[in-house]
Amino acid sequence: MDFRLGESSEAFRAEAKAFLDEHFTEDVERMMHETGIHHSWDLHRALADQGLLAPSWPEEFGGQGKGHLEMIAFHEEFQRAGAPTYGQGTTAIVLGIILALGSDELKKMIIPPALRGEFIVSLGFTEPESGSDVAAAQTRAVRDGDEWVINGQKMFTTSAQDAKYVFMLTRTNPDAPKHRGLTTFLVPIDGGGVEVQPVQTISGERTNITFYSDVRIPDVMRIGEVDKGWDVMGLGLTLERSGAHDGHTIRLQRAMEAWATTPNEIDGTLPADDERTLAKLGRMAAEAEVTTLLARRSAWVADQGGRPGVEGSMAKLFSSEALLRQSRDFVNLMGPDGIRSFGDPTAPAKGEAEYALRFALGTTTYGGTSEIQRDIVARNGLGLPRAR
Ligand SMILES: Cc1cc2nc3c(=O)[nH]c(=O)nc-3n(C[C@H](O)[C@H](O)[C@H](O)COP(=O)(O)OP(=O)(O)OC[C@H]3O[C@@H](n4cnc5c(N)ncnc54)[C@H](O)[C@@H]3O)c2cc1C
Repeated sequence: MDFRLGESSEAFRAEAKAFLDEHFTEDVERMMHETGIHHSWDLHRALADQGLLAPSWPEEFGGQGKGHLEMIAFHEEFQRAGAPTYGQGTTAIVLGIILALGSDELKKMIIPPALRGEFIVSLGFTEPESGSDVAAAQTRAVRDGDEWVINGQKMFTTSAQDAKYVFMLTRTNPDAPKHRGLTTFLVPIDGGGVEVQPVQTISGERTNITFYSDVRIPDVMRIGEVDKGWDVMGLGLTLERSGAHDGHTIRLQRAMEAWATTPNEIDGTLPADDERTLAKLGRMAAEAEVTTLLARRSAWVADQGGRPGVEGSMAKLFSSEALLRQSRDFVNLMGPDGIRSFGDPTAPAKGEAEYALRFALGTTTYGGTSEIQRDIVARNGLGLPRAR
């Protein structure tokens, strides 16, 4: 068994690094931290120009036919650099769904301009009254001739302020069982009737609550069959949940190593001289390895033509919880200095510890909370019955 990613992945990693060196500027990083918006149009358009918005897609659709293991190396570099990725991430999920399940007309309308970097797409699953229980969505879509009329609210519609469309889960048949009366659509944000209100989170990330009042869309914007939206969501949620935090973990580890080997300004001692620091760094290194291997196993399942449902949930669960544990360790080892703000040039490790802790908190929630991932692993991985 060879645990390395291989030459082509490492070559693609080098390409990602070179891209980031050129395009992930200090200005882009500052904008991301000041606004909480993890999307940069400059970066997005540069990715599109270099054919890097969907490198895993077949060449006939403008991709490069990269395998999932190659994509792991690519994403690791973006996370490691701390670059904004949400706009291209959610758009890639929705394009994948349209490619698999959309009508030919919708594919023609959406995929080419999206791959040219002309717009991004947000995810509209969660509602104020239904988060983890995604299928309880109450946003209504009612048919009116060749159109649908949409009314309701979506919570945590991240990047909606920059997006052209929201990929939306709606209820089309309130009399059917919960999972059976749902339909998914691509809803234009700028077509009238949509209001986007910002929501700032403790992670420092801006997300949104979005309101839909009598929004009219043609039937061509429907994805999948009427009332069969839960089948579409199966693919969407698997794609969303399979993201591990391997690059974020490596970034944190490097920051902690650098801090541990920098002499204290007052007495010249090194944090690494303290065995508690070494113990935490040792655990972090072991967890970083597990995170990386779980991410690679998920990618390997996908490369074999499988859908990494359980493997993706395991990778997301372990990596986000490990990241939270590690960032807490980092802050605790630093003492009061650990909570000095990210970006403060006089803060130890440039405030990386306090930012990592806030950021890690969010990772255990979005993409499905840890409880939900554990439930998926127990039910789908171990074959146990539903908890409720
Ligand atoms: C910063 C951020 C960005 C997000 N971006 C998006 C986005 O772009 N699009 C989108 O659609 N959604 C998004 N989400 C939603 C996210 O993916 C989660 O699904 C959602 O936050 C969970 O719902 P909730 O917060 O209402 O928690 P709830 O579902 O109300 O859960 C509250 C608590 O109960 C636990 N719980 C719930 N159900 C169960 C159960 N069956 N068994 C055990 N425990 C349970 C949960 O784990 C959690 O700890 C985002 C969330 C955040 C915080």
